[in-house]
Amino acid sequence: MNSMITESVKAKESTTYAFSNIVTIKGLTKRYGDITVLNKLDLEIRKGEILTFLGPSGCGKSTLMRLIAGFDTPTEGSLSLHDQDMTRMPPERRPVNMVFQRYALFPHLDVFDNIAFGLRLKKLPKAIIRDKVLKIMELVQLEKMASRWITELSGGQCQRVALARALVNEPEVLLLDEPLAALDLKIRQHMLVELKRIQDVTGTTFVYVTHDQDEAMILSSRIVLMNQGCIEQIATPDDLYFRPKSLFAAKFLGETNVISGIVTARSGNEMSAAFAGGTVRSTQYDAKVTVGSKIHILVRPESVHITPVLEPYIDDPQASNSCVATLKSILPIGGRVILVAELPDGTAIKAQQIRTGEPSAFYVGQSVHLSWRSDVMAMLIE
Ligand code: ADP
Ligand code: MG
Repeated sequence: MNSMITESVKAKESTTYAFSNIVTIKGLTKRYGDITVLNKLDLEIRKGEILTFLGPSGCGKSTLMRLIAGFDTPTEGSLSLHDQDMTRMPPERRPVNMVFQRYALFPHLDVFDNIAFGLRLKKLPKAIIRDKVLKIMELVQLEKMASRWITELSGGQCQRVALARALVNEPEVLLLDEPLAALDLKIRQHMLVELKRIQDVTGTTFVYVTHDQDEAMILSSRIVLMNQGCIEQIATPDDLYFRPKSLFAAKFLGETNVISGIVTARSGNEMSAAFAGGTVRSTQYDAKVTVGSKIHILVRPESVHITPVLEPYIDDPQASNSCVATLKSILPIGGRVILVAELPDGTAIKAQQIRTGEPSAFYVGQSVHLSWRSDVMAMLIE
């Protein structure tokens, strides 16, 4: 076990500073008859990362996984591993393993034999198989379950067997297609933490599929947000959340305020825009933006700072994005409160605060000052 950990740590260290791509996907297209399921995808999977395909049901996530695994062939485009083309390589020759949503375990074999199955196919010596299986069982915390039947296991334990059975083959890339979908919420949350730990210990590149934004945010090094067979955005969870590149991205992840504005000035790397009741300033530079361009300003409720207008407002130099609005409703939700304010043109802006139990300074009908920092705001050209 320890040598495995040390090796993986070494492997990780060598890839921490320079990203090396393990899989390169170019112009990947999959059509079934007239239906284009994946449309010209370009994507690089980095060694040692947890890359997540996130998107609504039917957007092509599983199809993309099947193409990477080799269970299906693309209509157009290519896939390569390191620098070797694997577009037409059969699945068993790819250093890739897949964990399925329904586990696909063998019910007539016990835990040990399920995990050992792939190694026996490879005809490895018995002692080596035993050694590898025991190490993996320890890693996924199944060491006491070796002789249990699959039918005697809980959903979470089945998931661990499925994971162990794939990891024991030491794949370079492990594909996980909605692996937690069949589990209850509590076990799912626990397994997420476990998956992260196991990935960290082994250093294996994980490609993960989910339609659950929270799962993607917790787990991923990077997220590939997909929409109708296309890639909307590839970004770190933070960038995707705070700096979405499209309305689809902004609305798919959590809640966001969308405010319409018009560009009033542009110079160098900075642009300003006006909206009903206020102005924004951003250092985002987009060559297509000109004075008069219509834009959408996107900002998360938890990034909106709200104060009653009567208080002397201390100007924060970073808080250049501000406006005055009228408080329309106060919605306490457990430990949070959502304050909904309305701009002069009727646009609603939500601000979220943590509830501490202290008396609130807010009441419906009062004038409020809203502000947020430029680095948590996205501006999109309409
Ligand atoms: P996701 O995993 O994101 O939910 P899928 O990749 O399973 O989506 O499917 C994407 C689209 O491709 C869906 O509209 C689905 O109906 C279609 N599709 C998948 N496999 C086939 C197939 N073998 N024949 C025809 N259409 C398919
Ligand atoms: Mg799917």
